[in-house]
Amino acid sequence: MTFNLAKLIRPNIQELKPYSSARDEFSGDAKVFLDANENSLGSPLHKWYNRYPDPHQVAIKQKLSAIKGIAPEHIFLGNGSDECIDLLYRSFCNPGKDNVIICPPTYGMYEVSANVNDVALRKVPLLRNYQLNLLDIEAAIDENTKLIWICSPNNPTGNSLHRIDIETILTNFKGIVVVDEAYINFSKQKSFVQELVEYPNLVVLQTFSKAWGLAGLRLGMAFASTEIIAVLNKVKPPYNINQSTQELVLKALDDLGQVNDMIRLLVDMREALAEVFRSMPTVAEVYPSDANFLLVKIDNARKVYEFLLSKGIVLRDRSNVQLCDNCLRITVGSEQDNTMLIDAMQDWYQLNA
Ligand SMILES: *Cc1c(COP(=O)(O)O)cnc(C)c1O
Repeated sequence: MTFNLAKLIRPNIQELKPYSSARDEFSGDAKVFLDANENSLGSPLHKWYNRYPDPHQVAIKQKLSAIKGIAPEHIFLGNGSDECIDLLYRSFCNPGKDNVIICPPTYGMYEVSANVNDVALRKVPLLRNYQLNLLDIEAAIDENTKLIWICSPNNPTGNSLHRIDIETILTNFKGIVVVDEAYINFSKQKSFVQELVEYPNLVVLQTFSKAWGLAGLRLGMAFASTEIIAVLNKVKPPYNINQSTQELVLKALDDLGQVNDMIRLLVDMREALAEVFRSMPTVAEVYPSDANFLLVKIDNARKVYEFLLSKGIVLRDRSNVQLCDNCLRITVGSEQDNTMLIDAMQDWYQLNA
């Protein structure tokens, strides 16, 4: 396969001269900063919030680089993975002309972001075993196909996609393959981050929203070749990661041990919760999960959903989603959350005995 990145980039992006911020033009130490029209008197909060944040998030990337075993030049940070998703569309897909492939049922933002950017979607549903349909993906590709979105472990099905299938696509597709690993920390599968050297067309997405427990801070990661990272950096808003997020994530990165403890606990609770649901009379299937949630097929899913809601417990009703009929997606909660869910399910069975 010949991979030609320059040919994939939108012409307007290829030619784009990026905004040069005050912090780009001067980033060293000075006594007096009068270059960015900030308020030098301070702010009602800590005084450093009066200054623009580091547009390149150097400190975070340095720590991440050590944790992930990859150089900072291969790391892009976005305002959530959702910003990374949008930037990939804006960098590579010509509105009204190009198309991308998604494999439903999968994460909803690939489709929403395509629609926002006026990019055509080609849907190649997963097979009945929730694995990739390689033949139909191959048939869906044409010369205007720029991106293929692969979510593994997949949301909402919870399973990991076969590594060999992803590798087959990476090897044969001349566009960019995005592997969204939002749930990789809950999986026994190996990340694709270490495969960037082998595949110049690979973009791996990860996030601080799930295993790291920092959904409120909005920080997503993209890992790719230095060339692809350079494109994303050119297109992003200069100060896309705010100062408080940068400070707090920097602190959180020192607590990898606690994060790993939480991951282990969540995985244990996932398996325990799966066993309980498997033993329930109207549960047709609890799908194997490599994530922090379970997909459960249950009789009268919508009714169960509404009953639990009346008890103050919110699940995700996926029963109208293709290949997910009568399915509910259940996030693994705290010990107490899970107990309340199980108790409420017992109430459901008592009422419907
Ligand atoms: C939750 C989730 C994300 C995270 O998005 P953020 O914008 O980083 O919060 C990304 N991809 C998938 C598949 C998800 O389920």
